[in-house]
Amino acid sequence: MITQDDSNTPMRFLVSAVASPNKVEGQLLSGAMSRKESVAILPSGQQTSILTIAEQGQQRDPAQARADLTLELIYSVSIVAGNLITPADDRPEFSDQFEARIRCSGQQSLLPGRMYFLEAIGGRSEVTISKLKYRLEDDSKNQYAANTLGPGETAVCNIALTRPIIYDPFSTCPATGSFRMLDKSGGELIAEGEIRHGLRRASNVHWQALDVDKQSRASIKQQIPKILWLTGLSGSGKSTIANLIEKKLIAARRHSYLLDGDNVRHGLNKDLGFTDADRVENIRRVAETAKLMLDAGLIVITSFISPFRAEREMARSLFEDGEFIEIFIDTSLEICEQRDPKGLYRKARAGEIKNFTGLDSPYEAPENPDLQLDTTLITVEQAADEILAYMEKSGS
Ligand code: ADP
Repeated sequence: MITQDDSNTPMRFLVSAVASPNKVEGQLLSGAMSRKESVAILPSGQQTSILTIAEQGQQRDPAQARADLTLELIYSVSIVAGNLITPADDRPEFSDQFEARIRCSGQQSLLPGRMYFLEAIGGRSEVTISKLKYRLEDDSKNQYAANTLGPGETAVCNIALTRPIIYDPFSTCPATGSFRMLDKSGGELIAEGEIRHGLRRASNVHWQALDVDKQSRASIKQQIPKILWLTGLSGSGKSTIANLIEKKLIAARRHSYLLDGDNVRHGLNKDLGFTDADRVENIRRVAETAKLMLDAGLIVITSFISPFRAEREMARSLFEDGEFIEIFIDTSLEICEQRDPKGLYRKARAGEIKNFTGLDSPYEAPENPDLQLDTTLITVEQAADEILAYMEKSGS
């Protein structure tokens, strides 16, 4: 079943022997490999680059599949025979359930539900046919219902493995998309198969622990990380709304964190005052902190006046498209001053506080916020709900 045209497929190298932590031998199964290429070692996910490529003592650059090669790596990695080397930015996938096309190639029938051994380039596992979908005849033109698969017959099935393997769909890369099924007792060849596609991504802890990123952290929490960046005058309602958002998120079992102006100024930013320069540094630190939290998979709510447009744009620039939601809590200075929940306007008017936003320090209102809420028209509850609805809609 394996086609031998492996040159236009992704680069996949199977390690057969390790001479030292940065020198390995093996076979280039598919694609082309070049010097300086940035590669990943699978399944560990460690990254390194190719320093030299030799085929029978001759340097090659690039080398083409299929070839037996000796590679020198730029950085030492822990690597063992059976590992795969692939481009760092074009890795195969990892799953334990597949839809596959299977040809019963031995003397025995293939029985759904029976346990067999599966061998593939990307791993070994026990396997059962979880569903025999249909049998194929006449060069795959006709489909028939079937309960078993006799010698020489071909079918499309779902298969379930007891441990995940590394794979590519057969259509992408035949070398890593093929497998064999063997009898569990005698090791006799029962069938050969081609993976059509994975039925789910494996949530294998080893894979994720070794290749942990924002997505893997967030996927454990089953949420899409976001920054809800609230901006507005003192007393506009940022903290009140932010607190309610967080309560609602926690009630919905979402993992969030509220970064609030007052709290941050007691710790991380306690060395900063309210001059323009300190306000800029205040927001820079908050934005960087929010980024770390987003990276940890959290929904981060920030509640800072953040008066300058440039700093809000700087904050936005730290994030990927769609991650940063700028919410303008648009309450007029008059209303904020009437509310004066912390008595700050009164003190500022009395000259006890200098550089107070809206009075003797400017507030640059957002020109194109993602969301603008007038708290004189809606309640705290409505504001929180509107923000959460916007966040859900913004998706990934
Ligand atoms: P900020 O964090 O923006 O400085 P606060 O949330 O501390 O503002 O204070 C806002 C004040 O306005 C609170 O006393 C709050 O109860 C009151 N308020 C009245 N209506 C609203 C509303 N619709 N949304 C938010 N706050 C409101």
